[in-house]
Amino acid sequence: MDMNEKDSNFITEIIEKDLKVNNTDGKIVTRFPPEPNGYLHIGHAKAICLNFGIASKYNGRCNLRFDDTNPEKEEAEYVEAIKRDVKWLGFDWEDRLYFASDYYEEFYKYALELIKTDKAYVCSLSAGQIKEYRGTLTRPGKESPNRNRSIEENLDLFERMKRGEFKDGEHLLRAKIDMASPNINMRDPAIYRIKHESHHRTKDKWCIYPLYDFAHCLSDSLEGITHSMCTLEFENHRPLYDWFLDNLNTKCHPQQIEFARLNITRTVMSKRKLQELVDGGQVSGWDDPRMPTLAGMRRRGYTPEAIRSFCDRIGVAKTESVIDMALLEHFIRDDLNRRADRVMVVLDPLKVIIDNYPKGETEELEAINNPEDNAAGTRKVPFSGVIYIERNDFMEDPPKKFFRLAPGREVRLKHAYYIKCKEITKDPKTGEVTELHCSYDPNSRGGSTEDGRKIRGTLHWVSATYAVDVEVRLYDYLLSIDEAAKVAVEEDYKKYLNPDSLKILKGCKAEPSVKKAEAGRLYQFLRQGYFSIDTDSEPANPVFNRTVTLKDTWAKMGKKS
Ligand code: ATP
Ligand code: MG
Repeated sequence: MDMNEKDSNFITEIIEKDLKVNNTDGKIVTRFPPEPNGYLHIGHAKAICLNFGIASKYNGRCNLRFDDTNPEKEEAEYVEAIKRDVKWLGFDWEDRLYFASDYYEEFYKYALELIKTDKAYVCSLSAGQIKEYRGTLTRPGKESPNRNRSIEENLDLFERMKRGEFKDGEHLLRAKIDMASPNINMRDPAIYRIKHESHHRTKDKWCIYPLYDFAHCLSDSLEGITHSMCTLEFENHRPLYDWFLDNLNTKCHPQQIEFARLNITRTVMSKRKLQELVDGGQVSGWDDPRMPTLAGMRRRGYTPEAIRSFCDRIGVAKTESVIDMALLEHFIRDDLNRRADRVMVVLDPLKVIIDNYPKGETEELEAINNPEDNAAGTRKVPFSGVIYIERNDFMEDPPKKFFRLAPGREVRLKHAYYIKCKEITKDPKTGEVTELHCSYDPNSRGGSTEDGRKIRGTLHWVSATYAVDVEVRLYDYLLSIDEAAKVAVEEDYKKYLNPDSLKILKGCKAEPSVKKAEAGRLYQFLRQGYFSIDTDSEPANPVFNRTVTLKDTWAKMGKKS
């Protein structure tokens, strides 16, 4: 696959055709239109990469527009969070930050235009009646008794709706299209509803609010959008998108193009469900590192570069699919492998006393920071006569294939020496191993000897004298089910919440070099995985998030990226 082929998809084909016949005056203008009712998630990242990516590919522009037409659920907090996340992902809307609420005056004028051309009317049916009159997929709808109100009466009622003379739900402004249309969206859809609700930007100026289908196409048109990309569930809203623009005197008619939304195994994606997890306390907030939100991923240690590579790789298509979480993790690992410094941290410490090491002595051993990046240099790691190793790197009675430490066996300590296990100390009551006594070979400094004897196991370790106590948070997937089950149980996701999605380890022992690290700093803990310093971290209590393990299940499956 060459570069051009990789970058092209059904949307770029449409755009290139449009450019060829000069449909858009040679300009390409897109937008990313989030509703500020929650934080952005990895699905939005796909839409952001698509919209900003297309604009940059064709030397066009991409606007950031908040689709804030529903006053109830929208909050300024979300606006700020969304801006932060789009920037973090690496995109820039420059001076093109818009709010649909800035167009309320224009929307209102367009509504008047529809009334005046007899293409909209005020309907006074109750919500229940409207639903009943709407019909079903197999049964046509029934016309509202108010459908033939005079233009004058409609103008008067709509004006009074705006002035606040009616209660919520008392009247509705509807487009006059076709109650028998096979497309239910075309059966006289609502344009404006009464809502005595304060809006995060317009405050109490309005008590009527436009509906999404009306506001969206007009916002696109007002901004001179050429290609309006949205997810597949809007496919059968497209006739309505076009109807409004065809029946109103607008300056341009953008083209709506639908693509498949991103779904990922082992997690939930819709903001409604994420909000439920936040409200229900199953997670600590929108930025909990288990969340598929960009804020959660950032906190966990995912990088914008890796997320963008992932979005490039999955591309855009017209059919729904579910992407394996292992693919996203593959991109995270790939990126962190290049940028994360290696350090040694023992998660479950077992004390090792090196009996023949000179008492009270310490030495500094040279350690490479990142074998993938020479520029990362080296650091000094202190070594002394008492160290910690990982408890599961020792077995009292090991099987033959166990190449780590066991009575009488010799292993290599990374960057340090060979040690041999001589004696075990146990808790007399529980029988648990509490300490190991070992000897070291002074001729093996740096990890090899002149006699070239073969040592199979290499362990990470930390000097007990210099160790820093750290907290480590191990994350697992939010859902405990696999991809096959995923689609079917979407709605029932709460039954499948993974009770072990967070495991907190305290008293882990880290080498002292991590002491100075700031939140967001990324590391590879040798043999353990990639970790990031959490925002909860304090100098006196460093806290690490496990970003991703080392095991690349995607690569193992033989699916090459
Ligand atoms: P959710 O269902 O998660 O609440 P939404 O579609 O309601 O998402 P919006 O804020 O309305 O969220 O979405 C902003 C843009 O992001 C829209 O163009 C929408 O189509 C797109 N988008 C949302 N979710 C996904 C997804 N999973 N994959 C790709 N694009 C998405
Ligand atoms: Mg939405």
